[in-house]
Amino acid sequence: MFTSKAFRWALLGIGLLAIIALTGMNVYSLYDIRDRMVDGEEERQLSLVDELTRNVWRQIYQPFEGLGTLELEPTERTIETSGKFPPQLHEKIISAAESPLFDGLYYTPEGTDPCIEGSKVYVYNYSTQIMEYTENYPSNLCDGVGLARTKARIELNSFDYRWNNNVEFDAHRTMNIGFINLSENRIIGYLSVSMNKDYIVNDVIAPMFMEYFDPKTNPGTVLWLHDWANNDVLATNNPSVNYNRDLMDARKFFPGDMFENWNVKVGFIENPVGTIYNDTLLKNLIVLGVAMLFVIGALLFMFFTAQKERNLSQRQAGFLANVTHELKTPLAVMQAAGENISDGRVTEKERLKQYGNHIYNESIRLRGMIEKLLDVAKTDSGQTLIKAIPSNLNELVKEYLKENRSYLEEKGFAVSFKHSMSQALIMVDRSHLETVLSNLTENAVKYSSDKRKKVIKIEVDSDPKNMLLHISDTGIGIPKKHQKNIFKKFYRVEDSLSAKTKGHGLGLSIVKNLIELNGGTIDVASEVGKGTTFTLRFPIFIRNKEKVSSKKTSESSNTNMINTSEYA
Ligand code: ADP
Repeated sequence: MFTSKAFRWALLGIGLLAIIALTGMNVYSLYDIRDRMVDGEEERQLSLVDELTRNVWRQIYQPFEGLGTLELEPTERTIETSGKFPPQLHEKIISAAESPLFDGLYYTPEGTDPCIEGSKVYVYNYSTQIMEYTENYPSNLCDGVGLARTKARIELNSFDYRWNNNVEFDAHRTMNIGFINLSENRIIGYLSVSMNKDYIVNDVIAPMFMEYFDPKTNPGTVLWLHDWANNDVLATNNPSVNYNRDLMDARKFFPGDMFENWNVKVGFIENPVGTIYNDTLLKNLIVLGVAMLFVIGALLFMFFTAQKERNLSQRQAGFLANVTHELKTPLAVMQAAGENISDGRVTEKERLKQYGNHIYNESIRLRGMIEKLLDVAKTDSGQTLIKAIPSNLNELVKEYLKENRSYLEEKGFAVSFKHSMSQALIMVDRSHLETVLSNLTENAVKYSSDKRKKVIKIEVDSDPKNMLLHISDTGIGIPKKHQKNIFKKFYRVEDSLSAKTKGHGLGLSIVKNLIELNGGTIDVASEVGKGTTFTLRFPIFIRNKEKVSSKKTSESSNTNMINTSEYA
């Protein structure tokens, strides 16, 4: 018994744990999906930044595209003689010079070092469109040419270099193109192009920021073009968000080291996918929570219903054994007595009377029991008829006591009755109330011991909405843990005191059914060794307007006549 009970509870525990674990896993994966979507969206945004930086690079390099297909070798000769590059290259140089991206073009032949004072290089003259040989050039040419020279030499030393030029950008924003004579494997000279910083920032990068990351359509991602050497923000797509290291989530460089000390800082202040998914996440969590509650509720419901059914069938089995015994005993007594009389074995008058009494008493017991069983069967099948009429509770109790007081007093009880001042009427079936009263007083008789003074106290009372009937005894009382069960069918308190008394656990279930059928309720208050009080409540049907004095009440109850027209 114990192990099967423990087993059932263990199964319930495992079931609940499984539901909780499954729900936990679901919640975890919902959050995981959210994080992945957020990460995925951030990666997508970063790849857009890559595309943007590539576009900037392409736009700046574009005027020089196609250098690889041109002949650069004649430059040494043409520039010395005419200040021009070979024809096709010269055209390219003119169109590049006209681009607002650049604000100066210089050519340094290999062998000339612009870092040495007094060195001469070629400078593009915007009005004559030819290269002029001059000492007057910006000092940053020294760095640019130096860088291009080093890189070009490294490339030439590598085995498989196949290009006739090599492009390097330096931190001062010059683009330096080394011209290479591939057949002789040597450098010819360096074309240095100075970039127009303001134009590139304001007319190339800033518009591209807006094109790719317009804050109106993409408010969550902020870009800052940052000059880290000077800690200066040169452009942003969203001026309302100031640059702050803590806001930065990623950093992107321009390809080919273009703008060496500029980079694009990226901050994700609000991930749009995350925001959209948060709504879905909330809905999912609610649905999941409700589903979990339902499943747990259903599991608990099934568990406790099964438990209840087990208890009921156990009680029914006990009842069946009990009832069989109870039916058989009076029958056996009656059978034996009848047999003795009909055989003519008992002839004395006195003994005949005794046998007759036996048969009579047992048949009364049998009848009582059969009636109870029929009552239960009737209420179970919903066949109990109700003939409720407006009634005065004081009067009903009084009538009941008139017939039963002497029986109760014979059983050794002091019976008291206190009626209520209220003459309100309730709707009850009188025969039902009589059955209720007889069951409750019979229980008081059964469960009172001779060791204490036996008392049955009946009191009618009222509250604003109900008429109340209290029936108290000074009997053995009902232990607290049994009190909620005593109204269940076949339920009996299994302790040594109650077990001594015969019963089937049906009386209170009949009482409760009948009271509820009449719109009332019943409660119990009891203390072991002190006694029990049952309280019945019936809703008031017709209320009396004014309180009637106790004298008047007793008068009216004496006459037992109520003129309903007096009540509102
Ligand atoms: P039974 O036929 O066993 O009396 P009831 O349904 O009338 O069945 O009562 C159910 C149980 O409630 C009883 O077995 C008894 O233990 C307890 N009980 C009912 N009335 C009283 C009372 N007045 N005093 C003490 N115990 C009571």
